[in-house]
Amino acid sequence: MPFYDLKCPKCGSEFNVMAKMSERENNQINCPDCGNNQLETVFKSVNIIQSRKSDSSDCPNRHVCGGCCSH
Ligand SMILES: [Zn+2]
Repeated sequence: MPFYDLKCPKCGSEFNVMAKMSERENNQINCPDCGNNQLETVFKSVNIIQSRKSDSSDCPNRHVCGGCCSH
């Protein structure tokens, strides 16, 4: 079974979990903190970090969040 790095957009918790692909596809993985199953996959590649940087410059609240929000 593959490992997934997941983030819960509801409570901000990040965790990794070993699960079947079918469980991930069917949202059968739950946040350990709040039980939410609408989880985002966390990618840790350089390409994603670069695209996040360009995304953050588009954030309308950048002066507030410092570009760290998910906009
Ligand atoms: Zn959560």
